[in-house]
Amino acid sequence: MAAPDRAVSEGPGPITRAEVLPPLVNLRPLNWFFDVNRAMSLWPVTFGLACCAIEMMAVSMSRFDIARFGAEVFRPSIRQADLMMVTGTVSRKMAPALVRLYEQMPAPKFVMACGNCAISGGPFKFEGQYGIVEGVDRLVPVDVYVPGCPPRPEAILEGVFAIQEKILGVRVWPRPKEMPSQPASPKATKA
Ligand code: SF4
Repeated sequence: MAAPDRAVSEGPGPITRAEVLPPLVNLRPLNWFFDVNRAMSLWPVTFGLACCAIEMMAVSMSRFDIARFGAEVFRPSIRQADLMMVTGTVSRKMAPALVRLYEQMPAPKFVMACGNCAISGGPFKFEGQYGIVEGVDRLVPVDVYVPGCPPRPEAILEGVFAIQEKILGVRVWPRPKEMPSQPASPKATKA
């Protein structure tokens, strides 16, 4: 009989981060050149698990247009992708497939947990539940967490920026301006 899959039993924690061998020629400008290219051409895998995946689709369309930031080439093969956006609820049945896909990605590779379900189980986390993995970080190492139920497409873009910042060590895009504070409504002032 086959041994139970570790991803289903959620045994000894997430698999370790994939090691990247040091380059044969370790020249700082050359590494920087590769890092810039890597950060500006992230290839996400076409992979959605539940409603949050609709936001991921929205991010690739004309209004939010992830192509502006170089990450529009969604790959149907995990072997050609370096970014896994976990968008949706991770069921225990799906867990072994998710781990296998992660292991098949070439390094360096990045994981974004999009939405409350992927971060912690979201609305499906309650005492006695038995079908949901309460956070994808129990299975694979997560680089960026994007909260929300679902997160807005702008938030997913911020997640992409955070991964680019992680690769390069600096933020490339300007930070969004803070929203001006709303004046208190007259009703609230009276009360
Ligand atoms: S976080 Fe909310 S929107 Fe996203 S998959 Fe879970 S229930 Fe759906």
